[in-house]
Amino acid sequence: VQIQLSTCEQSDMTELATKTTTLPVMEHFYTLQGEGAYMGKAAYFIRLGGCDVGCVWCDVKESWDAAKHPQWAIADLVATVKATPTEIVVITGGEPLMHDLTELTGQLKAAGLRTHIETSGSSPLSGTLDWITLSPKKFKQPLRGVLPHAHELKIVVFNKSDFDWARQWAAQVGPHCRLYIQPEWSKAAQITPLIIEFIKENPQWQLSLQVHKYINVP
Ligand code: SF4
Repeated sequence: VQIQLSTCEQSDMTELATKTTTLPVMEHFYTLQGEGAYMGKAAYFIRLGGCDVGCVWCDVKESWDAAKHPQWAIADLVATVKATPTEIVVITGGEPLMHDLTELTGQLKAAGLRTHIETSGSSPLSGTLDWITLSPKKFKQPLRGVLPHAHELKIVVFNKSDFDWARQWAAQVGPHCRLYIQPEWSKAAQITPLIIEFIKENPQWQLSLQVHKYINVP
């Protein structure tokens, strides 16, 4: 199911005239998706700058300030992606939904590519998105309007209380949303045995590992 939403839907006519033609890009690279339903598939990652969520344990804090990252013309970004054989583009961040993704995803779709996003869901959806990975954060929780559109819910577990957090969000996503539970990388040794027991008791959940870290790709 493809989602077509735009922040422009909530804007007045003056704002409609303003098209996003550039975006702040922290990094972009072609690799394998390491997590979730598309784990192991080749994918081009675009990491956009800008995040207002403020997770204390964030491992990409350098992404937070969008002004620190170069503005890329969307057409140039899409041309760079098209120079690879990828079929999937993953838009991540930072918090990518801080930007209007209508133009970027529109051009990617016009190029025949699948558009995936990894988001906390804390800003409104925009753009044409084939796959939405929702990873709720305690520091700025998902908007209610985002939850029914998630294709997969990814809960990262740091400690035992996060299992209740996982159940809380699973109860709010749509019936076809896949449920993934993943140990936080630095705590994997302690947390993974608890996750295994959780999944055995709650078989609607599935283990997600950060496979890209095991196979040493970005
Ligand atoms: Fe970092 Fe992501 Fe949290 Fe933003 S949402 S602070 S980028 S972990």
